[in-house]
Amino acid sequence: MKDSIKNYYLEEAEDIFERLGEARYRARQLFSWLYAKNVSSFDDMSNYSKDLRSKLTEEFSVSPLVLEERLLSKIDGTEKFLFKTEDGHFIESVLLRNEASDDGRLTICISSQIGCAMGCTFCSTAKIGFIRNLTVAEILDQIIHVRRVTGLLNNNIVFMGMGEPFNNYDNVIKAANIMNYSFGFHISVRKITISTCGILPAIKRYVKEKHLFNLAISLNDSDPALRKINMPVENKYPIKEVADFINKNPAAGYNRMTIEYVMRKDNISKKNAEEINKLFKFAHVMLNLIPLNSPECPVKKDIEKFMQYCSIMNIPIIVRKSLGSDISGGCGQLAGKKYSGGSGEIIEV
Ligand code: SAH
Repeated sequence: MKDSIKNYYLEEAEDIFERLGEARYRARQLFSWLYAKNVSSFDDMSNYSKDLRSKLTEEFSVSPLVLEERLLSKIDGTEKFLFKTEDGHFIESVLLRNEASDDGRLTICISSQIGCAMGCTFCSTAKIGFIRNLTVAEILDQIIHVRRVTGLLNNNIVFMGMGEPFNNYDNVIKAANIMNYSFGFHISVRKITISTCGILPAIKRYVKEKHLFNLAISLNDSDPALRKINMPVENKYPIKEVADFINKNPAAGYNRMTIEYVMRKDNISKKNAEEINKLFKFAHVMLNLIPLNSPECPVKKDIEKFMQYCSIMNIPIIVRKSLGSDISGGCGQLAGKKYSGGSGEIIEV
C-alpha cells in the first residue's frame, strides 16, 4: 500500500517537494488540485512536469478509497456512500440535505474508524467491533468522493459516522485542520463538529490544545447505572467526571458544545431532564435530542413532553430529524455493508 499524499499538512508537503528537488510552492498547487479541483491522479495535475508527476506517482497514491455504492433515500434525498479501503474493508459516509434549514446546511457525516471499540448497545457500528483507525487521507477522501460524484459543495462536516473520533485523535484533528485550510475545502471551524462518547483524556487534551471545532458529547443516559449498561465507556470514564471537567474547562470553540441524547422509551422522564440539568449546570451547552433509530423510539407526544421537562435547563434544544431511514443512513445505523433491502435507490457509480 502506497502512502497517500493526502496524509500531509501543507508544510509537510512542501518538505516532500523540496526533497524531490522541486520548489516548495508546488505544494500549494497540490492542495488546490486535491481539495478544490478534486483531481484523483497526479497525471491530471497539468501544471506539473512529466518528471514530477512520475516521481510523485512512484512514491504516493492520491485516492485511498474506492466508491463501491451510492444509495439515495426516496424519502428525504439523504445519500449514503459505501467505500472500500485498500486493505478490503468497508466504511460509510452520509450526505444530509438540510438545505431547507435556516443556515442552508449541506452536511457530510464522515467515519473516523473501521468499526468501533466502544460497544454501545444501540449502535450498529459497535457490532462490527474495532478493525482499525482511518488514516488522514481516508477521512478526507470521503468528502472528496462525495463532492465529486454529487457535484455539491457541502459546508458542514460532522464526525458522526462509524467509529469513535477521539480514539483516533491525531488523525481526526489533522484531517479537520486540513478541511479548514483556506486553499483547501475552506470549511469554517464553526461548521466542523467532532462527536465523542466521552473519552476524558482526549477531551482534556482537546480543550488544552484550544481547538476551535465544535465538540459534541454523546450522553444518552443521565443515570450512570443505565449508562454503564448501554455505553460501556461509562465504566472507564464516568460521565460525571466528563461533565465536571467541561463545567470547569469550556472548550475554546465559538459555538455551544452539544450534548447528544438518544431518546428511548425509558430515558425521557422528568427525572432524566433534572439529572441532565444537574450534570451540565455550569457548561455552555445546547441539547440535541436524537430519536432512537429503532421501533423502540418514543412517540412524538412523549418526545414533546420530554422537551418540556428539559426546558428547565434554559438552553437551546433541538430534536434531530431522522434522515435516510429507508437506506439505514441514520445515526447509529452505519455498518459498512452492501445494500440489503429497504426502498432506497441505487445510483450507478
Ligand atoms: N462515537 C461517537 C461518534 C458517533 S456519533 C459518539 O459516540 O459520539 C453518532 C451519534 O449517534 C451518537 O450521539 C450516538 O449516540 C448516536 N446513535 C448511535 N446509535 C443510535 C441509534 N440507534 N439511534 C439514534 N442515535 C444513535
